[in-house]
Amino acid sequence: MSTYDTFTEDLKRIAALGSISGLLEWDEQVNLPPESADYRARQSSAMSELVHREATRSQVGEWLAELKEDTSLDLDQQLVVSEAGKEYDRLTKIPADFVSRKAELTSLAFHAWGKARADNDFASYAPYLERNLELAKEEASYLGRADDPYDYWIDRFDPGMDATSIQRIFKGLKDELVPLVRQILDSSIKANTDCMKDFPVDRQETFLREVTERLGFNYRRGRIDRSLHPFCSGNAFDTRMTTRFFKDNPLDSLFSSIHETGHGLYEQGLPHEHIGTALGEAAGMAVHESQSRLWENQVARSPEFWKFWEPVYRETFDQQLSGVSSHDFYLAVNSVALNPIRVDSDEVTYNLHILLRFELEKALFDGSLAVSDLPEEWNRLSEQIVGLRPRNDSEGVLQDVHWSGAAFGYFPSYCLGNLLAAQLWYALLEQVPSVPEEMAKGNFSPVLDWLRTNVHQHGRRRFALELSKAVTGQDLSHVSLIRYLRERYLPLYSS
Ligand SMILES: [Zn+2]
Repeated sequence: MSTYDTFTEDLKRIAALGSISGLLEWDEQVNLPPESADYRARQSSAMSELVHREATRSQVGEWLAELKEDTSLDLDQQLVVSEAGKEYDRLTKIPADFVSRKAELTSLAFHAWGKARADNDFASYAPYLERNLELAKEEASYLGRADDPYDYWIDRFDPGMDATSIQRIFKGLKDELVPLVRQILDSSIKANTDCMKDFPVDRQETFLREVTERLGFNYRRGRIDRSLHPFCSGNAFDTRMTTRFFKDNPLDSLFSSIHETGHGLYEQGLPHEHIGTALGEAAGMAVHESQSRLWENQVARSPEFWKFWEPVYRETFDQQLSGVSSHDFYLAVNSVALNPIRVDSDEVTYNLHILLRFELEKALFDGSLAVSDLPEEWNRLSEQIVGLRPRNDSEGVLQDVHWSGAAFGYFPSYCLGNLLAAQLWYALLEQVPSVPEEMAKGNFSPVLDWLRTNVHQHGRRRFALELSKAVTGQDLSHVSLIRYLRERYLPLYSS
């Protein structure tokens, strides 16, 4: 075997080990008995240590040194080597004691956050958040990024991006999104979601299964279970999605499950033979989020989607929907209203929440904002950007889990994913004009096939910026998202 083959076999073996950690986390959120959490923490920590030790063996460094000099490698192989090299560099430059210290401190911070949110008590959480911010800066400094720690974190989630490029994109978005939100909210037409009450959970589950299967999710290599917060984990060989059900809010579980299905379809579409190397891994979080959002919004909120599914939905929930017209039902599916909570927001107002978090993260990292001043600044900017002031810190600064895990720089990916989804959508419609017609017949494979060809099969060959340029011919920007929102929502909300 060549050194390259030996090396990639080893990468795949380490990825298989890492996936066992993922399975433990999935199990923790789906199955774990309440008093087994401490032992699970020990199991997870033992696995992480094992994976870290395997991934940082000196042998790996020797293979990398040899392969970096190997001029016979083709472009794909060079990508595998350079991406693995970056990760090896990162893992070996960060001291092991920092890794375990960070794991312990963020675990404490996570619990402190949960309690602070329940008690509406930011002050009790502030010291943990301060420490998490220090941890994030410290990690960046090990990688030689002490001068631009926020950019280091953005790049971790979306390679090639930084605060300056995001700032430019977000500026364009904000200028057009804010007046559009106003226009829709000022309309005398309002969606009425009161009709979506008392939907039996078992029937929601049956409908959901039918939808996700028809969208293309492979249940022979994946599952959907229940957890407090929906997520998708695993890889193409074994994809685990979760959802949650509310009797009085069936659209929440439906759309969040279709969202997770989008993540799942991406994972299932990555080339199986390359899982564990850069050719078989997702191209950053913005691309991942573009996949979930495209299915959740562009596809599943479209009139064509509901042309096919509405009769099935009505048959499943005949009593609940008996007095509701098709128009009112479709309006409920596309309801727009300001909400202080990001995850409960509709697709029109959602990105305002990201613009807010991006401003705050920048200020936290450049030192112009102290953690102690964060709640007030959150509320002030929320009023200015989102258009409403949270009633308290629990529904304001304490609402998101991310910072409690020291995950700074992650929020922008959600918005970038929304922009990319809209851009991909128009490219798809242009290249495969029969898509709407096929969706109305219940055939979603033209959408999936196109995503497989243009996004999934490429692994990490193209990150968000290159992907948008290569597939849509355009730089990543707000233009398509604004066009999409106008085309979908203005007709609904114009009297
Ligand atoms: Zn997502």
